[in-house]
Amino acid sequence: MAELRADSPVQYIKGVGPRRAAAFAKLGIRTVGNLLEYFPFRYELDQGEVAIADLIPDTTAMVCGEVVRLGGRRPNLRCTIADTTGTCVLRWFNQPYGAKGLHHGANVIASGKVQVYDDHLELIQPRVQVLSHDAKVGKRRRQPERVGVYPASGEVNSGAIHRAVKAVLANRALPIEEFLPDKLREERRLPERAAAVREMHVPRSDAELKRARRRLAYEELFMLELAMALRRYRAISMAAGQRLEVTSEIDRRIRARFPFPLTASQDKVVREIVADLESGHPMTRLLQGDVGSGKTVVALYAALVAVARRRQAAIMAPTEILAGQHFANIRNYLKGSRVRSVLLSGRLTSAQRKQTLAAIERGEVDLVVGTQALIQQGVAFSRLALVVVDEQHKFGVLQRHQFRTKGPTPHYLVMTATPIPRTLSMTVFGDLDVSVIKRSPPGRGKTVTKVVQGPQWGDVMAYARKRLERGEQGFVVCPVIEGTEEDSHVGTEARRHGGRQELASVRAAHERLVNGPWRGLDVGVLHGALPAEEKQGVIDAFGRGELHAVVATTVVEVGVDVANATIMIVEHADRFGLSQLHQLRGRVGRGRKDSLCVLIARGRGDKAAERLNVLAETTDGFRIAEADLKQRGPGELFGTRQHGLPPLHVADIVEDFELLEEAREDAFELIRRDPKLEKPEHRGLLLRLKRAFRGRLALVDVA
Ligand code: ADP
Ligand code: MG
Repeated sequence: MAELRADSPVQYIKGVGPRRAAAFAKLGIRTVGNLLEYFPFRYELDQGEVAIADLIPDTTAMVCGEVVRLGGRRPNLRCTIADTTGTCVLRWFNQPYGAKGLHHGANVIASGKVQVYDDHLELIQPRVQVLSHDAKVGKRRRQPERVGVYPASGEVNSGAIHRAVKAVLANRALPIEEFLPDKLREERRLPERAAAVREMHVPRSDAELKRARRRLAYEELFMLELAMALRRYRAISMAAGQRLEVTSEIDRRIRARFPFPLTASQDKVVREIVADLESGHPMTRLLQGDVGSGKTVVALYAALVAVARRRQAAIMAPTEILAGQHFANIRNYLKGSRVRSVLLSGRLTSAQRKQTLAAIERGEVDLVVGTQALIQQGVAFSRLALVVVDEQHKFGVLQRHQFRTKGPTPHYLVMTATPIPRTLSMTVFGDLDVSVIKRSPPGRGKTVTKVVQGPQWGDVMAYARKRLERGEQGFVVCPVIEGTEEDSHVGTEARRHGGRQELASVRAAHERLVNGPWRGLDVGVLHGALPAEEKQGVIDAFGRGELHAVVATTVVEVGVDVANATIMIVEHADRFGLSQLHQLRGRVGRGRKDSLCVLIARGRGDKAAERLNVLAETTDGFRIAEADLKQRGPGELFGTRQHGLPPLHVADIVEDFELLEEAREDAFELIRRDPKLEKPEHRGLLLRLKRAFRGRLALVDVA
């Protein structure tokens, strides 16, 4: 075979012709390099040739013996063979041509999967060879080995991939280049790349497999962190920042705006932010804290620093409702101050809007509050120094924001109420600094959380009614807006419909309540498809205490801030992610009174309810987020694909957390020493990085 290079097409591999190559291509395997990096997802033991008595279930093996019985009928044949240690059944299903030439007394070699069948071991769908009388059996001895099982397709099975890989591995020199610097490999005791790749495909022992896997997982995580480190370096060190000094006078004046002292948690975060603002580099900070933990106050502190320094600040919310709430809160804090703030609302007339935009551009406005869409689209600032993005309910879809501003890069603070596990803040958000508000301000009531099953619906609602009648307020949250016509007669019961279970609908749930256990109560309906005015009307009525309860979709997660709300009931709770349920629960427990959160599980079996128990056990958002991450995986939870992160093939950020920390430490240290990857020993890294992240992470133009 001619020398194989990493970029040689797979069809030049022995045993892979053009047709198979086309099938390989559909799996993303086009070149020898692709194939070598296409790793097994598990391994099966091939025992090699063994005595019948030594067969182990769930392996593959080869046995030799004499046919002692033939049974079944084509295409489902059965054959019993015996060696000196025992007997074993060979079984074929649907194999019209299988097992040709078998006859009583024949000596055969059979190899295949060993499985338990009717309490004894059999070889299933084995390949058999009938030996001629004088054949020497002994010399075919095979060593036991672990055989990789590869993600396969209908056209290429795992075995074909395995054979192609082995054909490549038969070459002494593999076209695999080391790109990790030697120093790093030595420090972290990582095997060389070529060896690791080989061992990953055909490990000779568990220890070898572990070692290979560790190296390849490290390499993936390291490249990811290297990209993060680079992006961060570019965002911070290379961009000119605005130094905003916070004198003690400024600090005092800002704090005087708040009717309460900051909590220790808020104070700590304020110190971190001040250090950023004073550093001369643009801040890129992620502020995490549960709903109600006091993030807005911290963000306002930062905004007022910018204003005190004669700059502008923008505070962006994901929805109009939230922007309006922020603005109202901020107005409250700023009563009697000279800070000029505006709400850039979608409801402004075009003349008003034009005027506001002009004022912002002329620098006659200090603080702009609005939705992300409105602010990013058309606002030109005169001297923007700080951008606060309140992502609040969005599950980690932190976008990179672009602003039209003339001067230097503004400071950037993203707030999220979704606790982000450290595993993710090191990967998906790996280029941001992270601050956490751990404790909420004092004086809040407790929230008790109960997980119940569907049939308890009536009891739950009857109990809730008593509390609502005593002046508490509540939410019932359902997964979708509206069911089918048919569905609405059935109420909230999940039902089979066209083979699919229909979700509970808000309308149906509302009807079922007001015609049932909540007859006579004032119950509003709230969902995303309502016109904005109507939505606001319901929210306002609820806020004024005119409604006992609101039946809603997850819009309440975003908008409704009512301290008097103490009851949260979630229908079909098992259809929500844990983090989202935690967010929903955050809608109650905001006042001094104790609150109740009831999660109604309607999924079949105990599993659905069990999953939810984490919520009953803890209110620690980070623990919940970790559990969510384990249950659903990072892609589900945070839409990593949307972030343009490359998929991880070997590493698992939950399982390989320690390795991730090491990789991150190493990558950031390396970029600190060689920020543009210019040193000769880092050329390989740069090439690899460009290839791995082509078109992602805005890294294409690195160096
Ligand atoms: P978040 O933005 O994290 O949801 P907010 O900043 O809106 O939280 O604060 C939630 C509530 O707690 C607000 O009513 C606010 O006035 C109050 N609050 C914030 N900080 C404090 C504090 N240090 N002491 C007492 N109450 C506070
Ligand atoms: Mg808030």
